[in-house]
Amino acid sequence: MNADRRKTLLISDLHLDPSAPGIARQFVDFLRGEARAARALYILGDLFEAWLGDDDPAPAVRSIVAELRALHDAGVPTYFMHGNRDFLIGSRFAAETGCTLLEDGTVVDLHGERVLLMHGDVLCTGDTSYQRLRRILRNPLTLFLLRHLSLESRRKLGRKLRAGSQMHVGATAAEIMDVTPAEIVASLRQARVSTLVHGHTHRPAIHSLDVDGKPARRIVLGDWYTQGSVLEWRDDGVELRTLGR
Ligand code: MN
Repeated sequence: MNADRRKTLLISDLHLDPSAPGIARQFVDFLRGEARAARALYILGDLFEAWLGDDDPAPAVRSIVAELRALHDAGVPTYFMHGNRDFLIGSRFAAETGCTLLEDGTVVDLHGERVLLMHGDVLCTGDTSYQRLRRILRNPLTLFLLRHLSLESRRKLGRKLRAGSQMHVGATAAEIMDVTPAEIVASLRQARVSTLVHGHTHRPAIHSLDVDGKPARRIVLGDWYTQGSVLEWRDDGVELRTLGR
């Protein structure tokens, strides 16, 4: 299936938000345009700036759900991995969009190569207070409780969390919020692969590494704040591209 489609596309960190409709427009153009010809689309988290729950009736959210569904119905398998912003995305979103939810740290086959996919926040182990918060928020009991709060309570809580996050980001050194190099090597070793793709840091690049004497690479997807960022994977290689706006 889809063997005649020559490229797989990977994106992350669009941070879709009603306050920035230009990003949503660019994403819709992308979904209706080049994504239609893709073998598959992988979204590695933080598609949304915030996700209150799959029951959020906001028109901006519903239209993106419908656009993802249209891509799925056009025959393009779409995979979604949670980011730290949209970790509340659940099974209803998956059913409505047709997206397959992937666990953070899943190994997939891309054009014959086994590749480790992550959002990237778990790699930032230097930021201990964030990792502590993450463990609490991603605990199944917390997720259960959050999903059973009223939409209004989730809205209030989301605002508080984002305000706290902004204060934390403002007060934390840039290198602490970047990935920990040893964590990259450990992840590649554990997954027994030589390529890792992640987002989250908003520092798009293809880094060459050495893991136990063998060449490896870490591909970092960019954010969509001022332009789009897409990793295109073909049989003959990869290309990290920007989409102008
Ligand atoms: Mn993130």
